Amino acid sequence: MSVCIRHEEECIACGACNSAAPDIFDLDDEGIAAVIFAGDNNRGITAIAEELQKELQDAIASCPTQCIQLADAPFA
Ligand code: SF4
Repeated sequence: MSVCIRHEEECIACGACNSAAPDIFDLDDEGIAAVIFAGDNNRGITAIAEELQKELQDAIASCPTQCIQLADAPFA
């Protein structure tokens, strides 16, 4: 399962994903989120570790704009 922040302009910098899953999401200086797990750099090409799936689901549920996108295969 890969993940990325879809259309970064939809991220409203609330920080909820980083609070729920700090090993997967980080925020830039303006609070905009990106996937940082294993150096993914929001490319959506890195499978998220099995032990982080609960945190991942919590982060997705916490995002007020639903801009966290999941896919079974890498995005690129
Ligand atoms: S929870 Fe959603 S809106 Fe909030 S920082 Fe994360 S990606 Fe952006």
